[in-house]
Amino acid sequence: MNQHLSFEFSAPRNPVETKKLLSVYKRLKVFSPEFFSVTYGAGGSTKDGTKDAVLNIQKLGSSVAPHLSFGGDTSEKIEALLQDYQKADIRRVVALRGDIPSGQMTKMTFASELITFIRNKTGSHFHIDVAAYPETHPDSPSVESDIKFFKNKVDAGANSAITQYFYNADAYFRYIDKCASHNIDIPITPGIMPITNYNGIIRFSKNCGAEIPRWILKQLDSYKDNPDSLKAFGLEVVTELCSRLLEGGAPGLHFYTLNQSLPSARILRNLNAQ
Ligand code: FAD
Repeated sequence: MNQHLSFEFSAPRNPVETKKLLSVYKRLKVFSPEFFSVTYGAGGSTKDGTKDAVLNIQKLGSSVAPHLSFGGDTSEKIEALLQDYQKADIRRVVALRGDIPSGQMTKMTFASELITFIRNKTGSHFHIDVAAYPETHPDSPSVESDIKFFKNKVDAGANSAITQYFYNADAYFRYIDKCASHNIDIPITPGIMPITNYNGIIRFSKNCGAEIPRWILKQLDSYKDNPDSLKAFGLEVVTELCSRLLEGGAPGLHFYTLNQSLPSARILRNLNAQ
């Protein structure tokens, strides 16, 4: 693929998950992505896992971006973490507000404030990616408000964005047009979630506000007890989505791998074969 390509891993929580992540990393490295990224648990459970995985991948010679959010931590702690990343020559971070842990009333620091903090402490050392929402962030009262706060992140110093996943290419294209009309000119790479598991995709989508179009949902319903057909259908739908996005001018693809190599690899092979 000539366009930007990146793969996201979930932070490992124990040595078994770390081992799995590194083997998935090796299988995806053959696609020569621009970078890998590793999620960060704003709730606290996977923070060390993020740092360890990032440093491991960096040592293996790939560009890698830790996700980062304040998530209740002190400024000193975040600054120390940034310094560790700088020392290890990590050049990219994904700056987020983070998800509020369920059942908690924690006040979350907006991503734009984190970006300002990173720029104040580390200047232009890091390339900063941020999250973008073609279907509008679930907390946002309106599209306009969401775009306004997205622009705040760009003005604070974000270099590029990765979107929440979606299955409706038109939502992405409309969002890109809206951003352009608000003078937002950073690359906005679509986030791609392969469909491989019925319960998983329903649960994730409900949590993050991604819409599964009715025709896809109905078909997934009918394949609920037939995992092979579900995977084949998911592969076809998501390959077509990626193909439309790239043909329509998307700058590349960012895969939510959920620490599995095959679903993303199959889509990429399909795309190259087209
Ligand atoms: P923000 O950009 O801060 O926005 C959050 C909400 O607040 C939006 O509705 C926005 O419109 C609004 N808003 C922003 N600024 C203001 C303001 N000044 N006043 C009022 N409202 C405002 N979560 C994790 O916990 N760990 C991860 O590793 C992680 N990785 C992700 C990677 C990607 C590519 C994406 C798309 C999401 C990821 N998430 C992750 C989920 C993300 O943390 C959630 O979607 C979270 O709810 C919002 O984060 P944000 O950075 O977009 O927040």
